[in-house]
Amino acid sequence: MTAYDHMLAPLDLGFTTLKNRIVMGSMHTGLEDRFWNYGKLAAYFGERAKGGTAMMITGGIAMNKQGWLLPLAGTMSSYADIINHRRVTSAVHEHDGKILMQILHAGRYAYHPFSVSASSVKSPINPFKPKEMSEKTILQTIEDYAHTARLAQLAGYDGVEIMGSEGYLLNQFTCARVNQRKDNWGGPVENRMRFPVEIVRAVRRACGPNFIICYRQSLIDLVPGGNTWEDIVTIAKALEAAGITILNTGIGWHEARVPTIATQVPRAAFRSVTARMKKELKVPVMASNRINTPEVCEDIVSSGDADLISMARPLLADPEFVNKTASGKPEAINTCIACNQGCLDLTFQAKRATCLVNPRAGYETELVYLKTRKAKKIAVVGGGMAGLTAATIAADRGHDVTLFESASDIGGQFNMAANVPGKEEFLETIRYYRNEVQRTGVKVKLNTQVSHDTLTSYDEVVIATGVKPRIPKFPGYDHPKVLRYPQVLRGEVNVGLRVAVIGSGGIGVDTCAYLLEEHNQSVEHWAKYWGVDFNVTENGLAAPERRHAQREITMLQRKPGQKKMGAGPGKTTGWAHKILLNQFGVKMLAECEYLKVDDLGLHIRVGDNETRILDVDHVILCAGQESVTDLIPRDKEGKITDKRYHVIGGAKLAGELDARRAIREGAELAARL
Ligand code: NAP
Ligand code: SF4
Repeated sequence: MTAYDHMLAPLDLGFTTLKNRIVMGSMHTGLEDRFWNYGKLAAYFGERAKGGTAMMITGGIAMNKQGWLLPLAGTMSSYADIINHRRVTSAVHEHDGKILMQILHAGRYAYHPFSVSASSVKSPINPFKPKEMSEKTILQTIEDYAHTARLAQLAGYDGVEIMGSEGYLLNQFTCARVNQRKDNWGGPVENRMRFPVEIVRAVRRACGPNFIICYRQSLIDLVPGGNTWEDIVTIAKALEAAGITILNTGIGWHEARVPTIATQVPRAAFRSVTARMKKELKVPVMASNRINTPEVCEDIVSSGDADLISMARPLLADPEFVNKTASGKPEAINTCIACNQGCLDLTFQAKRATCLVNPRAGYETELVYLKTRKAKKIAVVGGGMAGLTAATIAADRGHDVTLFESASDIGGQFNMAANVPGKEEFLETIRYYRNEVQRTGVKVKLNTQVSHDTLTSYDEVVIATGVKPRIPKFPGYDHPKVLRYPQVLRGEVNVGLRVAVIGSGGIGVDTCAYLLEEHNQSVEHWAKYWGVDFNVTENGLAAPERRHAQREITMLQRKPGQKKMGAGPGKTTGWAHKILLNQFGVKMLAECEYLKVDDLGLHIRVGDNETRILDVDHVILCAGQESVTDLIPRDKEGKITDKRYHVIGGAKLAGELDARRAIREGAELAARL
C-alpha cells in the first residue's frame, strides 16, 4: 500500500481497463493543425504514455470547416487524414497507453467569417458574428461528428472526447445565453440538449459498443444565461442514456469573468461540482482544472469525488508525473505552476504550445538531452532559473558541474515571486530544482562571489547572473521615501499606507498584489471575491464581495495607454490581474513624467497638463531591470573574448526578461555543451 494507491489503481470501463486514474486532458499544442507536425505530436504523446499516463486526449480536431477554431485548423473528415493520426496512436499504444481524439466545433468562438452557432449571437471575445445553423446544417453536423469519430476509430484511437464545454458550439446549444431558437433545437432544456445527445447517439451507432466516448460537459458555466444545476444534471443523464462512457468536467466559458485555471485559482477549486455530478451518474466522472500534484489527485479519488483525474498542463510540465509518483518520488515532479506563459498564452497567439518549466514539451524531437561522450568541467554562475536549468541538465548529461550563487539559497527571482499572493506555486519549481541538483550531483557553492580567477580551471563557463533593478535617476531617486521592488517583495521594509508604484509591468502588478492581497489559498476566500456559486443555483455566478483595500495605491507609467495598464504581460491572465487591481481601487496614470521626489511626495506631470504632487509615504521603483554582466569578458565592440563563456537568461537580455526564455536558454545551452 503506497500513499497513492487510489490514484494508481486501474479502472475497469466494462470493455477495457485503464491502467491508472490519470488522464492527460486536451491541450491544443498547435502541432495538430499541420500534417507535417504529426511526427512531433507522436513523440509528444509517446513520451507521456511512456511516463505512465493511462489515457491521453488530443487537442481539438474539427469535423468540418465550419467547426475550425482558426482557419485551416486540424480536421478529420477524409480517409486521407487517418495516415498521420496512426503515427500518434501507435506511439501511445507502444507504451500501453490509450488515446482519445477530441472532436471540437468552435461555434461562435471560431476566428473566421464562416462561423455558425445555435443563434446569431456574437461572443464578446470574438469579432465574427455567427450564422444561425439551419436544421439541415444541424443534421449534417451530427453526421459529420459520427463520420469523424469512425475515422478516428480507424486511425487507432481508443475513443473520442466530444467537447461540450468552455462555451464552444455544443455548450452554445445547451444554454439560453446563445440558444434563442424557437424550433425543436431551442427553448426548454430537453430541446437545447437535443443536438449533443443526438451526436452521442450517432457516434455510438457509428463506432460500436467498445469505443470510449468521453463527453466534456460544462458543470458550471459562469456566464449570465448559463444553465442551472437542475438543467446540467438533466443533460448529463441524457448523455449517459445516449451512450457516453465517461463524463469529463468542464468549467466556465472562455468569456467568463472568473479565472478558472490561472495560478491564483486554488488547487482543485471545482472538485465539489464534479463530486455532486458523480452522485447522479453511473458512468465514471472525471475531475479537472487546477489539479497539479499527486497529493491532490489522490485526495480527490480516495474521497470518492471523482473516478478519474484530468490534467493537461501538469503533464506538459512533467511527462513522468505518474511514473515518479508510482516509484515513490513525487518530490522529483516538475510541477505545473499554472502560469500559462509557455502554453495557453502561446496557443492564443496561434503559436506552438510548450511549457515554461519544461521547454521540451512540444519539442521532444528537437530539444534532446543525450549523454555526453566527453565529460567537461563546467562552472555555472547564478542559481536562478537559467543557471539551475543549465547546471542540472548538463550534470544529467554526465558533465562535472559546479553552481556558484552569491545569495544564501538557490531560486533567484522565483523566491521573490513566490511571496506574491496567488503565486505560491513558484515554490514548487524551487523544490523541483533542489531535488534535481541533488539527483544530478551538481556541486552548489552558496554565498559565493565568483572572480575570473575562480573560473580559469573550467572547460566551460555559463554566466547566468541575472538582473538588477533599473533605477531611474530623477531628482530625489535616493530620497528615503523611494524603495526598490526587491526590498518590498522580500519583506525587508515596512511600506506606508499611501504608495506610488513607478512602472506597470509584471513586477509593478505583482508589487500591488503583494501590498493589497493576503496569502489565502482557500476555495471559500477565492470564491467570495470572484463571485462563484458552487451550488449553481443559476449559472454559477454570485455577486463578488467588495474588497477593502489596506492601502491607497497609484500605479504610473510614462507611455500612453491607460486602458492596458496593470494587465501585465500574460495574454490569458492579464485581464484577471487588471480586475484585481480595479477591485482594490488602484488608480492608474499613464503618460507621466517623473519630476522629483521630496518630503511632499512624488512630483509628476501627466500628459501636457500641470504638475501634480502625489502625497505618498513611499514611491516603489518597478521600472524594469538591467543585466548583471560584470563577469563577461568582452572587447570594446561587446564581443565575448573567451570562447569558454556562454551568457543566458537575464544576464544576456534584461528587457523582455521572462522565466520562459531563461529556462529555455539554459536547456538549449546544456543540451549542446
Ligand atoms: P517590464 O514589464 O519591462 O515593465 C517595466 C515598467 O517600467 C514599464 O511599465 C515601463 O513603463 C517602466 N519603465 C521602464 N524604464 C523606465 C525608466 N527608465 N523610468 C521609469 N519607468 C520605466 O518589467 P518588469 O515589470 O520588471 O517585469 C520584468 C519581466 O518579468 C516581465 O517582462 C515579465 O516577463 C516578468 N514578470 C512576469 C510576471 C507575470 O505575471 N507574468 C510577473 C512579474 C514579472 P514606461 O516605460 O512606460 O514608464
Ligand atoms: Fe503549467 Fe506554466 Fe507550463 Fe503551462 S507553461 S504547463 S501553466 S507551468
